[in-house]
Amino acid sequence: MEYQCQQCGYRFNAERRPYACPYCGETGTAKPTPTASDLLNEVEMREIKK
Ligand SMILES: [Zn+2]
Repeated sequence: MEYQCQQCGYRFNAERRPYACPYCGETGTAKPTPTASDLLNEVEMREIKK
């Protein structure tokens, strides 16, 4: 899973949601970023709903 720090914008991979950003050290700012496959799945879901 790829995460991005909402504070500094640093992107990194982690197995689980990290407690603190490894770059700026801010806590609670890491949000998962959608991967290419996640985006494809989302598109497929929308197609099914039509
Ligand atoms: Zn950060």
